[in-house]
Amino acid sequence: MANRAPTFSTQRIIFLAVSLVLGIQVVWWINAQIRESGRLLQARSQALNASRAEAWQLDSLTLLAFIHGQRVPTESGEGRFNLPPSLEQRREAIHRSYPHVAVVPAPVTPEDVALMDGAAYLTLRPEPMQELRNQLWHSVFRTATEGAFMVVAVLFGFVIIYRKLADELDLKLRQRNFTSAVTHELKTPIASLRIWTETLFTRTLTEEQRLRIRSLMENDLERLNELVGNLLDVARAESGSLVLHLTPLELEPLLRAVCESMDQRLGAGALGLKLDCTSEPLWVNADPKALGTVLENLLSNAYKYSAEPRQTTVTLDGDGDDVLIVVSDLGHGLSSKDLPRVFHRFFRVGDEMTRLVAGTGLGLFLVKEIVTRHGGEVRASSRGPGLGADFTVRLPRIPRPEDA
Ligand code: ADP
Repeated sequence: MANRAPTFSTQRIIFLAVSLVLGIQVVWWINAQIRESGRLLQARSQALNASRAEAWQLDSLTLLAFIHGQRVPTESGEGRFNLPPSLEQRREAIHRSYPHVAVVPAPVTPEDVALMDGAAYLTLRPEPMQELRNQLWHSVFRTATEGAFMVVAVLFGFVIIYRKLADELDLKLRQRNFTSAVTHELKTPIASLRIWTETLFTRTLTEEQRLRIRSLMENDLERLNELVGNLLDVARAESGSLVLHLTPLELEPLLRAVCESMDQRLGAGALGLKLDCTSEPLWVNADPKALGTVLENLLSNAYKYSAEPRQTTVTLDGDGDDVLIVVSDLGHGLSSKDLPRVFHRFFRVGDEMTRLVAGTGLGLFLVKEIVTRHGGEVRASSRGPGLGADFTVRLPRIPRPEDA
């Protein structure tokens, strides 16, 4: 039984579920941290309040001790007050033991307490409370920033993993399509060759029929040759062993030769081909065979993905330090969704029309590999489905060898 890979939507659901769980965990963590900071603030403010109560107790004990003539341990070591301790002395004693408590003439907050003799009130200095509040805000801010950073980092990681998985799945699907496309592409000309061979050996044919069959067999062989050539080139490009023999090359003669040969191969006039070259000679450093493969693939696509009557234009022009070769057709065109993917290995547009056309999804991948290896770039553009497509090859221009 076929080993089925998970579908894209299953992956998406798993991804969303894991992201959701992680997101909830991070939010829970932030919440816990903030609550913990709140508890800490509460505990510290309780401790401050307690210190006010303790200060009150200390002062009351001092007064009581004086009233009852008892010795009380004081910081200076004196044991007894001969005179009632002045408010100033009491204030100092309180401040020494409880620096956060202040002795004030009137209450500042409702929690402030009056001294036992009603001479003044005990209040908490505002600075430590303010400091505590600042600490809380700092801690909330730090937690929120760390949490946000964690969320972003986790999401970023997930997006990368998600994209990688999606790409792999996409590649797997394209590879599967490729295998069946190659099988089909190999089987069709082979079956056709078998039929023609049988016909040649088992039937009595006129010279005209023989010539017709010969031409059809040559077409099948050409198709097989092209497919095997493309497969070998792709394998070489992937393994890095695609060797290019770069030589100064004038483009116009090469373009003319390829256009003529493709016109013959695809049927005279079938491409509706028009070659439009600028009058100045344009030279590049290129491998003629490899560049020929690039043009053949682009022209073959213009033929495959256009309906009759086809109109194909090949334009050659200079653009600053570069040379532009544009192959345009008025065929089925490409959607903006498919445009960035057409150069991917095994990619074929998933519409019905493409399925009806023979192909492996390797031609444009090879085109891109070859052009890139020439130090150039290739771009696809389209005005939209049904409105044709343009493939622009940009190559670095070199001076004519005689002028160099
Ligand atoms: P294929 O062997 O399928 O032609 P290519 O790599 O050459 O492989 O092209 C990839 C896909 O890009 C094609 O399957 C087709 O869907 C789309 N494509 C290529 N050239 C054209 C074009 N000129 N017009 C419309 N679609 C094109």
